[in-house]
Amino acid sequence: MPWPSAAAADVSMVESSPPGFPTRAVGEIATRELLSCPPGTPIAEAARRMAQSHHSSIIVVEDGRAVGIWTERDALCVDFASPGGFDRPIREVMTSPVRTIDADASVSEAGIAFRDAQVRHLLVVDADGAPVGMLSQTDVVLNHGVEQYLTLRDVRSVMSRSPVLLAASLPLAEAAGRLRAEGVEAAIVLGGEGEAEPGMLTERDLVRLTAERRLDATAGAAASRPLVAVAARAPLLSARNLFAKHGIRHLAVRGDDGAFVGLLSFSDILATLQYEYIAQLNATLRERDEALIRSHQDLFLARAVIEASLEGVMIVDAQGRIEYVNPAFTRLTGWGADEVVGRNPNILQSGRQDEAFYAALWASLAEKGHWQGEIWNRRKTGEVFAEWLSINAIRDGQGRLVKYAAIFSDITERKQHEEEVRSLAYVDALTGLPNRRLLTDRLAQAMAAAHRHGRALAVMFLDLDLFKRINDTFGHDAGDKVLTETAARLRACVGEGDTVARIGGDEFVLVLTDLDDPADAGKVAERTIAAVKAPLDVAGRAVFVTTSIGIAVYPSDAEGVDDLLRCADLAMYQAKQGGRNGFQVYAPALNARSHEMVTVENRLRGALERGEFSLAYQVKLDLTTGRMAGAEALIRWNHPEHGVVLPADFLPTVERMGLMPELGEWVLREACRQNRSWQERGLPPIRTSVNVSPYQFRSAELSETVSRVLAETGLAAIHLELELTEAALVDHPARVAQAVEQMNRLGVVVAIDDFGTRHSCLAALRTLPIHAVKIDRTFIAALDADDGNGGDGVGGRDADLLRAIVALCHALGLKAIAEGVETVQQVRVLQEAGCDEIQGYLISRAVSPADLESLFNRNLLPVT
Ligand code: C2E
Ligand code: CA
Ligand code: CA
Repeated sequence: MPWPSAAAADVSMVESSPPGFPTRAVGEIATRELLSCPPGTPIAEAARRMAQSHHSSIIVVEDGRAVGIWTERDALCVDFASPGGFDRPIREVMTSPVRTIDADASVSEAGIAFRDAQVRHLLVVDADGAPVGMLSQTDVVLNHGVEQYLTLRDVRSVMSRSPVLLAASLPLAEAAGRLRAEGVEAAIVLGGEGEAEPGMLTERDLVRLTAERRLDATAGAAASRPLVAVAARAPLLSARNLFAKHGIRHLAVRGDDGAFVGLLSFSDILATLQYEYIAQLNATLRERDEALIRSHQDLFLARAVIEASLEGVMIVDAQGRIEYVNPAFTRLTGWGADEVVGRNPNILQSGRQDEAFYAALWASLAEKGHWQGEIWNRRKTGEVFAEWLSINAIRDGQGRLVKYAAIFSDITERKQHEEEVRSLAYVDALTGLPNRRLLTDRLAQAMAAAHRHGRALAVMFLDLDLFKRINDTFGHDAGDKVLTETAARLRACVGEGDTVARIGGDEFVLVLTDLDDPADAGKVAERTIAAVKAPLDVAGRAVFVTTSIGIAVYPSDAEGVDDLLRCADLAMYQAKQGGRNGFQVYAPALNARSHEMVTVENRLRGALERGEFSLAYQVKLDLTTGRMAGAEALIRWNHPEHGVVLPADFLPTVERMGLMPELGEWVLREACRQNRSWQERGLPPIRTSVNVSPYQFRSAELSETVSRVLAETGLAAIHLELELTEAALVDHPARVAQAVEQMNRLGVVVAIDDFGTRHSCLAALRTLPIHAVKIDRTFIAALDADDGNGGDGVGGRDADLLRAIVALCHALGLKAIAEGVETVQQVRVLQEAGCDEIQGYLISRAVSPADLESLFNRNLLPVT
């Protein structure tokens, strides 16, 4: 098929930082001013410049390159005891090499770098490695955006416990030694009794004193005051704000009682941030991993299902290239995955569908996102096959089209069955003319059209005179020759839109639709008689055949298909009786039935109230088990004078009188009640089939009635089956479809009755959730009737037809049920054809409920 070529789908970037964590670049928060000095600068000079400019570090630069760094921390290493210490060149005490960080690294990354390098300063360099600023831990901690993390924890959770306490009188050199030895950045300096208030001695103070060359100072003199303290319970954010406000790096921590319980430094806060960052990062990664694992599992499962599927699956990308095909695709098309992946699916195109077809397909995909239907495609071998295809457009989260998924199954066999059934079931094999079934169907359509347009139509019933004598004298081949030649002549006598059918041995029916005046039918009849009379050449001899014709007109003579044909038939007999080779127009006097109808009508009124109806039951036999599968309920009218009246003799009148819904509901209730009562009596549960007339669901209340009756009688829905005739399906497809859907929702199964009598749309059977098809008894009767059609009962054309119908049912996923089974011979053919259930006089007639009970637990399969 023609696949579109669309623009490449966008690829979206995956965010790598945990959501919510500050992602500002260090270049934005670093101190841009760099303090630098040459390597030979004396320590005291460098320290002085740092203190003066409030820098916590100085870069040692040689030939324009940063060769080292000297920080407040390094000041701890100054030998305050030796006078020469202050004059040593900074080169000897600096830290080298200098740790650097890229200006566009994130603040979070800086946090990690500080931890990994165990430093407090990072030289920020640009893309070329040139120094552009200095980043201290302070910069990170004071960076806006981290507040959220700092409110979550309190001071106590991160402070260093048991602060180093120094006596105020301690010489400075010793105090520096303590800080170094304890590995801390600061200590609290306490005075003795009654002495000065406490202060804080930090590395920074040591730098200051170094600059002042104060060797003799004591810790007390060097300490900063006042001592800034924070409560242990306070959130870290308060601590950070104190750091910022006072420009300090250390806080004393007081407990609830006011005693010093710890020291909090800037780096402690930094550690918190790192902790939160790592925790978040881990959580994010873990989530992502889990999601990945989950989606991998889902994918694995989906893939396994697709690979094992019997249906062909093909995934096509938005550019119209095949991306994936499953093994079933290869089996169905003959193309291996390696041969088709990357190619356009039009390699499968058969050329049988036109542009309009594809235009409709694409329109549906664009509008609704999916399409399904039948399509002809080509296998690798070149063979064309039919598939049932559904295509879905797959879109990404943003609604962009990314792929198409096509799923298809091979329905070639099913289509073949359909064709076979069509031609076998509706066409006369000898003459190629429509048979009785197709005639009935065409006539019904023609009558409906005539009704719509307010026109008349005529049927001509035509019977060859003394045909049997030709057969007997010249043999069957000659007889066949006469029939085929006559068929051709009849066709030539009627118009394009008219139907010529062969409905039996030498019986033909012509349907004349194009009549301006019904009297014109007589002219056609004359023409036809003349055409048939012309000599025929049979094996070199001239043979003369004559015919008798009966004519009936719709709507004046009859309004139903069967009635109209019966009228024409009657007229034909009249024609024969009046001397052959002529025609007769139907006269109402020929029909005595009309009188009868009036009396039936009178007697039917009140019959329901008088309790004159009952149900008889006919077994449905499961051919695989030999047991009763269910029973069909058939109505009987127990007439006080005439005894049992069969449905054919009163249902048409009931329908005409509009009593069908009422009677139908009674049948339904009685059938359900009876079934329930059998179950209550411990008999094995069976399914009761109830016939539903189209007049019953005209009210659209069928589903309401069915569910009410089920509730009233307490019968489970699975024990009820409805039979709808194929005629109803053809005449009222929408109404039947709705009824079937509603029944399906209730859990009541539906079978199509009298299947094959009407030219039904097989596609409708596929889309409706129907459970079974009852093959009309005319097909079954044909199985052992010697009708000169070559039907020998087993291997003949009728057996072929039956096999095709059963195969079609099975291809559509439906059960095949045969009705009207009367002979063992028929059972044999049905068994061999794979028919599921049978019903007929051979197994049992319709019997009273009491008589049916004796059949419940028996093997009913006749010996074949
Ligand atoms: P159907 O639904 O096709 O029912 C089968 C008919 O074939 C029954 O005739 C049954 O007695 C007859 N039958 C069964 N086995 C054989 C067989 O081996 N050979 C022959 N020749 N006939 C056999 P019945 O009971 O006279 O019913 C005739 C039709 O009346 C039914 O045809 C059905 O369409 C209709 N009908 C019967 N009961 C009801 C009902 O309660 N409601 C509606 N709406 N229609 C009903
Ligand atoms: Ca039935
Ligand atoms: Ca039937």
